[in-house]
Amino acid sequence: MGHTAQPCIVPAVPVHLVQHPVTQDAVTYLRDKSTTASRFRRLAHRVSLILAIEATRKLPMTLARVETPLEQARGEVLDANVVVVPVLRAGLGMVDAVLEILPYARVGHIGLQRDEHTAIASQYYSKLPADLSASTALIVDPMLATGGSAVAAITMLENAGVRDIRLLCIVAAPEGIAAVEAAAPKVQIFTPVIDRGLNAQKFILPGLGDFGDRLYGTI
Ligand code: URA
Repeated sequence: MGHTAQPCIVPAVPVHLVQHPVTQDAVTYLRDKSTTASRFRRLAHRVSLILAIEATRKLPMTLARVETPLEQARGEVLDANVVVVPVLRAGLGMVDAVLEILPYARVGHIGLQRDEHTAIASQYYSKLPADLSASTALIVDPMLATGGSAVAAITMLENAGVRDIRLLCIVAAPEGIAAVEAAAPKVQIFTPVIDRGLNAQKFILPGLGDFGDRLYGTI
């Protein structure tokens, strides 16, 4: 790719603002309320692919030798133990993009439900792969709103022994970034946009509405 993710002005927590022309284009169409669910899914995949590429710029590598048809060549191959962790259900729309570039990654699922009135996340499902102590975890949670679900997912992974946690989202609010910063300052956040803030119902403004509903046409 012809650009480098720029750290944004939010201090302390490592936020990577992934402002690629393709992500900005896709986010604009994701916001558009006339975008159909099938197009929404394709756009979410496209943004997630670029986020996944940015979030995996630094992964463990190991030296390797291969025989080309002409001679021996030295190179590097991935030596990473990656687990992708979608926060259900919206995060499912981002998983395939990560697996496209890291097909051998393991996948863990975390189900967190947001109370409609308090916006507090409670866990209803968790299935993580065994022995994550040497893993890099990529949490995929498209809307970083209050940060409640992201912080809950981070805490679950920390309790499972993961030390390298990166959070990929499609729209972030300053409130969510601050919540992650307070709870887990070492977690790197990758997002194409930081929106204005939250409304009274804790939806991101201008945002794109309920990501899960738009992804699955359950509006
Ligand atoms: N979750 C969503 O799907 N959208 C928001 O704006 C906030 C949380």
